[in-house]
Amino acid sequence: MKLMHRPGAEIDGDQQRFLSQPHKTKRLWAEAKTLWLAEQACAETSRLDRWFALTDYKKSFKGEKPREFGKEVIAALRLHLVGLQKGRCCYCRRWLQNVAHARPVEHVLSRKDYPQFSMQYRNLVVCCRDCNQKKSDANWCDLPHTARHYPKVIDDYFHPRLHVYDTHIRYVRIETNDTVVALYHGLTDQGRHLCREHLKTIAQVDGLVSNNKRVSKAFARLQAASDVRDPSKVRELDAFINELHVAMHRVAGTRRP
Ligand SMILES: [Zn+2]
Repeated sequence: MKLMHRPGAEIDGDQQRFLSQPHKTKRLWAEAKTLWLAEQACAETSRLDRWFALTDYKKSFKGEKPREFGKEVIAALRLHLVGLQKGRCCYCRRWLQNVAHARPVEHVLSRKDYPQFSMQYRNLVVCCRDCNQKKSDANWCDLPHTARHYPKVIDDYFHPRLHVYDTHIRYVRIETNDTVVALYHGLTDQGRHLCREHLKTIAQVDGLVSNNKRVSKAFARLQAASDVRDPSKVRELDAFINELHVAMHRVAGTRRP
């Protein structure tokens, strides 16, 4: 089967674009780039999950109060990846909502099994919350956990950074006033694998939420409430929405507890 593998130069070009502006504030670009490359090298050499370290990283600049610099770099990465993905989830292709917690950064090869790739640029994508819940730490490959080099060619599953979606999966979503039907059709072995392992459930969850007026209304209210600024309220809201999604997956009969 012919693989749709993006040439390395293009991938490197995307990474260069991110590293040239890895923070929304121009005067902090150099610091952000240094931090990113240091954490990336540390993850690769020590086989430690450095994503946590980046998330918790704080720094003061010229007498300013400490700022959550790592989270700010991740926010810049999220924006960059959303641009590459043209605003759609990397797995289910639905539109990503413009709220950080609704578009988590996802590690294609999980941080749990492959901590050395926790900061690997090609391993990072943005997906919707449903896909993030469903995939969780699942790995679809048999790459040894001790692998030192990130795979360049993958033929046993769909990899959103290395494959072209439209070549592998056909997505149709029909929406009327009161009904939504999402259909995914695998065009290749990798596409069929994604449909079997992942998209079948996502389509069920989509229908379950969208076709139940009370549930979709509740989700709309929660989405609106996500404008709150108080960090503790944001955390509470996030945890609540998370639990709701887990419950929806349970109802839809996923294998996730
Ligand atoms: Zn999705």
